[in-house]
Amino acid sequence: MRIFIHSLIIILNNTKVNAKKNEPPCPCMSGLSYTTCCATYHTGSSKPETAEQLMRSRYTAYHMALVDYLVNTTHPDKLRPNYRHQLESTKDDMDWSGLEIISTSMGTKLDKIGKVRFIAQYVMNTEKGSMEEHSRFRRYKGDWVYYDEKG
Ligand SMILES: [Zn+2]
Repeated sequence: MRIFIHSLIIILNNTKVNAKKNEPPCPCMSGLSYTTCCATYHTGSSKPETAEQLMRSRYTAYHMALVDYLVNTTHPDKLRPNYRHQLESTKDDMDWSGLEIISTSMGTKLDKIGKVRFIAQYVMNTEKGSMEEHSRFRRYKGDWVYYDEKG
């Protein structure tokens, strides 16, 4: 009987894993499904705990053209007046197709600042391209926000 229950638990666990595998992967390429990864930040059900998580969620927001999320996770001091307009007018031209995190420094749960260097791939008018950026992040009212490009 004990063996039977054990097998049943394994079957139930496998069913759970398979169900998750069938969900679409998160565009940020974390290996998680979108619903268990960046969607939790996009819907506001949780907050990114690290600068890298915020960076990934912003990449996915670019991918999905979530303009409000991108505006809301930019530091107010660095929010350009035309940023929203720029995002809305270019969202159909760019298809963000991949993300690779090169390095991170600070930006942990305990930090107030952090940096993430990454390469984002895109397709623009059928032309493939990539951009490397070294982004700086800060806390604003306790939450991670994008600050600027370090260059
Ligand atoms: Zn994600």
